[in-house]
Amino acid sequence: MRLFRVPTRVNYLPLVRINEFQKMKSSSMYFDVVVIGGGHAGCEAAAASARLGAPTALVTHRFDTIGVMSCNPAIGLGKGHLVREIDALDGLMGRVTDKAGIQFRMLNRRKGPAVRGPRAQADRTLYRQAMQAEIAAVDNLDVVEGEADRLRFSNGVLCGLVLSDGHEISCRAIVLTSGTFLRGLIHIGERKIPAGRQGEGPSTGLSISLEEIGFKLGRLKTGTPARLDGRSIDWERLDVQPGDDEPVPFSTLTKTIETPQIPCHITRTTSETHKIVRDNLSLSAMYSGEIKGQGPRYCPSIEDKIVRFGDREGHQIFLEPEGLNDHTVYPNGISTSLPEDIQQAFLKTIPGLENVRVIQPGYAIEYDHVDPRELRTTLEAKRCSGLFLAGQINGTTGYEEAGAQGLIAGLNAALKTQSRQPFTIDRSQAYIGVMIDDLVTRGISEPYRMFTSRAEYRLSLRADNADQRLTPLGISLGCVSEYRRKAYQCKLEKISAARETLKRLTVTPAEAQKKGLPVNQDGIRRSAFDLLSYPDLSFKQLVKVWPQLGDIDLPIAEQVETDALYAVYLHRQAQDIEALKRDEALEIPDGFDYETLAGLSNEVKQKLDVVRPSTLGQASRIDGVTPAALVLLLSHIRRQVRSGAA
Ligand code: FAD
Repeated sequence: MRLFRVPTRVNYLPLVRINEFQKMKSSSMYFDVVVIGGGHAGCEAAAASARLGAPTALVTHRFDTIGVMSCNPAIGLGKGHLVREIDALDGLMGRVTDKAGIQFRMLNRRKGPAVRGPRAQADRTLYRQAMQAEIAAVDNLDVVEGEADRLRFSNGVLCGLVLSDGHEISCRAIVLTSGTFLRGLIHIGERKIPAGRQGEGPSTGLSISLEEIGFKLGRLKTGTPARLDGRSIDWERLDVQPGDDEPVPFSTLTKTIETPQIPCHITRTTSETHKIVRDNLSLSAMYSGEIKGQGPRYCPSIEDKIVRFGDREGHQIFLEPEGLNDHTVYPNGISTSLPEDIQQAFLKTIPGLENVRVIQPGYAIEYDHVDPRELRTTLEAKRCSGLFLAGQINGTTGYEEAGAQGLIAGLNAALKTQSRQPFTIDRSQAYIGVMIDDLVTRGISEPYRMFTSRAEYRLSLRADNADQRLTPLGISLGCVSEYRRKAYQCKLEKISAARETLKRLTVTPAEAQKKGLPVNQDGIRRSAFDLLSYPDLSFKQLVKVWPQLGDIDLPIAEQVETDALYAVYLHRQAQDIEALKRDEALEIPDGFDYETLAGLSNEVKQKLDVVRPSTLGQASRIDGVTPAALVLLLSHIRRQVRSGAA
């Protein structure tokens, strides 16, 4: 990697000019692909483009802010599936998290593997350093420190960009991943600070450039809580939340987690906290009418929680240390745009925080975004050939959503410059496909966050089989390293051998009963593989019967067990999907009571109740009604019709 530095407008930067950049400039500063922004989308985009062999430049404000986590220092919260999919295509986020993670937890461990997902809290500094090391190690990738100011066109064709100091870079495709920086405006009470995020200036030139080519920009907002000094927290009074005893890595290439693991702590808001927040709502930027942009309903601020959900028994707060050698604590669950003194006051009403010192106040930020319906499934803009958009600029929120889009945009930008076929993933192949389809067909009315419930093929889109779903695609595309290819082939061979062994070992029901296995006494001889599909029979029990199964590596045994368990359900799921396609015209009975429909989120129930669609097809076109919700609705109406209740 070569690093070029140019002067930038970002407020606190020293202005550095490196001779080499000047030399480059005076010859020709040309790359096939230029990625603007070194955040979560930009890093994946740049690395993916370079992995396909396209000479690529990552233009970003500063090399040392590459990989900054703007908000919570955690990866995977309900979105670990996306990180596994990024990893399966040899993306960076999984490997980086494995190096930086200081508390790993497998979420929904007690539920089925389809909704189980890895999550890790990260040391911010280690995360940044690991991402920077990954970027520095990518072949075909250079980093230019500078501020992209506008796009350049030649005869109406995108041909490069101009930096804020006037330097030009030529290229054939651009991936724009500017995050929350486009006309970013921070709000703390009545104070407004133009900024891309805390301490960094906004980008205005790029917004103007996008408007000039016809994009209509919308405004969204997000927020972050105050950062606390851990030395002023009374930890003794708080509940401890430990991580898993045996951390499960995100990347299939990581053998073990070597970073020391630490616990988090939990506290709650009190009625006093709620009173202070409620009494001062009019001072909150969000409630005073200062903020026009729509915020993320799924990451509500403390103001939103109290207005929408009332006092309850207090709202839970996770106190997450930001690093192993850092006293900063991130209080997850209380983002706010109240004035600083009110933030101080309400924090002191929370158990354990009575004497807390605030290192940095919470704030809300508004920024420009593009309507993602302007994009193709490759994430290329329909109105501007060669321009790809990824991340927060497309109306999403979260590192994982950004990283996944960056990966797809980067691959497609490189493919375009190589005149190769585009690479797209559909809803049945990956959560990445679900997200991109949602974005480009339905658009967004609030920051989009990925949930497993958005997918209709949930049983097959599991975190545990992301590599089996996507790595073969990555191998044929050429974006997967030889090392990963070999590791994957080796795993496949082991899985196949384990399956064969399990299929060779058989028992009659009578023999099974003698060995203590609960099997129907129907006279049918079953293989050990068949037995694994019984939810109450585990691999461990089979090892007691056939000790030779103990030779199978644990991760391989777990994978085969999950595959066997889901085989029957997957068949049923495929039938449901088929039925859904056939039954678009199915009528929804008048006065249908959505409240009684178990499994639907409150949000979907509300939307259906307001619109009251007359057919399933109409229900499917309501923004926010997920394909998974439609499958539920379909089977419920069918049951009603069959039982004559409708
Ligand atoms: P970013 O990570 O923001 O990266 C953008 C990059 O682009 C930066 O490196 C920047 O330097 C660079 N850049 C921008 N403009 C230019 C330019 N003109 N020239 C060169 N470089 C440029 N997510 C959640 O899931 N939950 C939350 O609660 C949440 N809260 C948030 C609160 C705040 C205050 C902020 C700022 C973000 C929050 N996020 C939250 C969002 C999360 O940080 C983003 O979703 C994620 O970082 C988006 O990744 P990205 O790559 O699109 O952009």
